[in-house]
Amino acid sequence: MIEIVIHGRGGRGGVTLAKLVAGAYFLRGNYVQAFGVYGAERAGAPVQAFVRVDVEEITTHNPIAAPDHVVIIDPSLIAAERISGMRTSGVVVLNTEAEPEAFADVFPGRMIATVDANGIAVANRLGTQALPIVNTTILGAIVKIVGLQFSDAEAALENANFLGPNLEAARTAFELVRVQQLDGPILPSRPNVPVPALGFFDHAAGSPPTTRTGAWASHFPRGRELTPVCSDRCPAGNDVRGFLQHVIRRDYTAALATILKTSPFPGTCGRVCPAPCMSACNRKLLDEAVNIRDVERAVADNGVWPMQSAPGCRERVAVVGSGPAGLTAAYHLARGGHRVVVFEADAEAGGVLRRGIPAYRLPRHVLDREVEHILGSGVEIETSHPVDSVELERLGTEFAAVLVATGLNEPRGLDVGNSRKSAVVQAIEFLDSTCRHRIDLAGSTIVVVGGGNTAMDAARTALRLGARNVRVVYRRTRAEMPAIAEEIDEALEEGIVIDELLAPVCLRPGDDGTTLECRRVVLGEPDETGRRRPMQVAGPQAVVSMRCDKLMLALGQSPDMSILPQRAEMEGCRVLTRFGEALMFGGGDFATQEGTVAAAIGSGRAVAARIMAALANGTAEQEPDQQLAGPDVMSLGRFPLSAQHRCLLTPAAERRRSFIEVRRGLASKGSDAVVSEEAARCLSCGACNECETCVVFCPEGVLAADGPEPYSFDYDYCKGCGLCASQCPRGAIVMGPCSEVVSR
Ligand code: FAD
Repeated sequence: MIEIVIHGRGGRGGVTLAKLVAGAYFLRGNYVQAFGVYGAERAGAPVQAFVRVDVEEITTHNPIAAPDHVVIIDPSLIAAERISGMRTSGVVVLNTEAEPEAFADVFPGRMIATVDANGIAVANRLGTQALPIVNTTILGAIVKIVGLQFSDAEAALENANFLGPNLEAARTAFELVRVQQLDGPILPSRPNVPVPALGFFDHAAGSPPTTRTGAWASHFPRGRELTPVCSDRCPAGNDVRGFLQHVIRRDYTAALATILKTSPFPGTCGRVCPAPCMSACNRKLLDEAVNIRDVERAVADNGVWPMQSAPGCRERVAVVGSGPAGLTAAYHLARGGHRVVVFEADAEAGGVLRRGIPAYRLPRHVLDREVEHILGSGVEIETSHPVDSVELERLGTEFAAVLVATGLNEPRGLDVGNSRKSAVVQAIEFLDSTCRHRIDLAGSTIVVVGGGNTAMDAARTALRLGARNVRVVYRRTRAEMPAIAEEIDEALEEGIVIDELLAPVCLRPGDDGTTLECRRVVLGEPDETGRRRPMQVAGPQAVVSMRCDKLMLALGQSPDMSILPQRAEMEGCRVLTRFGEALMFGGGDFATQEGTVAAAIGSGRAVAARIMAALANGTAEQEPDQQLAGPDVMSLGRFPLSAQHRCLLTPAAERRRSFIEVRRGLASKGSDAVVSEEAARCLSCGACNECETCVVFCPEGVLAADGPEPYSFDYDYCKGCGLCASQCPRGAIVMGPCSEVVSR
């Protein structure tokens, strides 16, 4: 077998030369192989090409480690290491004007052949002075060295359709190649030691090409970071991409620290958040969204929570209400060095998280851990301390700033007649009372009116307290229900019946207890909320009656504004009062009525920033508007498909009569591989995660992934082709005018 290794630079014909040499032998009836170590499209980067020739079928396919001959077609690559592993009997063929003796020090004891292929190629107009195309020329030299006839080169060139000047150049090289055995000790042959082929990223091997293609460029690439859509849509403002990247490395503590910068409720949100981040996730367009909510839960459950700190000593701030909004604001104010006192009407902190959301969705130990961490960051709390408008005015005089975050506590009613008023209860009050004392609904039939989380929670709680039949009556369809989709699915699995397109009209005594009379509904044109307006159908056939021992109303709540001093007005989150100089603010559902935990957290954080800025006589810093990494900047087709890891569920039969947690997370404690696998489904939209696609595609080999930055560009040789930017799967490279990227 004859084995030849050719060293060249990408785009200069090394791989084609290998094919021509192989072609010459093939046409003589030999078995041949010719291949490059990587695509020659990387112009300028070192390339190796291999040729194998044998009289028998060749069964090895690996790169050649111990070649018989070595051909160096780019003079800048001439170096002793190019022949490492080469057999002693072969010839080193060099493209150079110099005589073989000039390389006595570089290749001592070797047989050297030199040919001025650049000069011959240029004389034959093959390429340009700056970039001569030498492959066909060198073919002439090689056939001479290996003992073939020029007619073999001719046949190979004709076969590949390289005629005219290529043939002439090859002939000249055949005639002019000089061969000489050099003096000196021959390097030991190491045929069995595999010689590492030039690596994919050895872009710096050899001396750089003389043509500084950077001078040709009008635009250069540069790295950039875009805002991922998940973080943009997270009402709490969490750095979703950031914490997922930590989870990929199974560093839950770093992931937890990342979330705690914005939200002190990761365990809560990891369980009850409707996860708008997941609805926005770009991965949804590829297969399924990353299961961000359950990864966040794992972070809260597995990360090490940071140490406690003492109360701050700057300004005194009062917060009224200890729901997620009030506690988040208090947490950020305390972290900002302020002394915060929270006033809470209830005996325990947590707001709806404690008195509304049932324990089978949010176990109390999870909430307790988060409240404890908030209080541990220096927040004081006075529970069982209701605040009215008079008390609020007093707080305004005692504290430098006051925040009202009392939530929504005025439930909406429904007129169902007077005959069975005692059978009507507000769902929110029912949920609250189940937290305080044991309620027994054994054997009863419960009807819940509404389609939000409160309706689902009341229905599922009633079932767990022994109700025999539980129905949810809703005047639109399931598609319009505001409740979290998974909650609806789980309620149905547990045996709750959802009656769509029905509106309750009245409660009346029936033959076997109380009867709820409803009317069928059709959906009309969209109303001001964008949802189709329900319209009751007239006529006796549109009446539906059902047994109903208790009717629970879950029709939404509004804020109790009576807490504010008379004639106070809200302007955004600022409360404008007519007394003193008090800085008074509103936050959470009280001010925004957005109605989610994450929105309350986001509002709490934003209002804390407003308060701190006001106390410092400044304005809160606006977070800079950054370009979004939407699907338009992502090359989604480049990512392999992978299914979402789903949350484990307690079986319906087991959970419908108990308050044990329904959703069990991605994995049981300790087996965190599945959590990091799920995090690894994150596409890292808009930020480099060192996938090295740009390095692979760069035709000039000017991108390196070995510096302090994820990648660096060598602008001396970048000709601004833009391939890196167009191939980056996550939009993390952008082209800009050279003057904006580097100063020349
Ligand atoms: P709240 O949580 O209502 O807290 C207000 C606090 O102020 C309470 O502790 C209250 O006792 C206190 N307070 C009130 N008046 C006074 C006063 N005068 N003096 C002193 N203290 C006072 N959102 C989700 O994202 N996911 C869910 O799964 C979900 N499920 C829900 C289920 C139910 C049953 C309900 C009712 C809501 C649910 N929500 C859910 C909505 C979410 O819980 C609320 O949007 C969020 O709790 C609002 O937070 P907040 O801090 O503004 O108010």
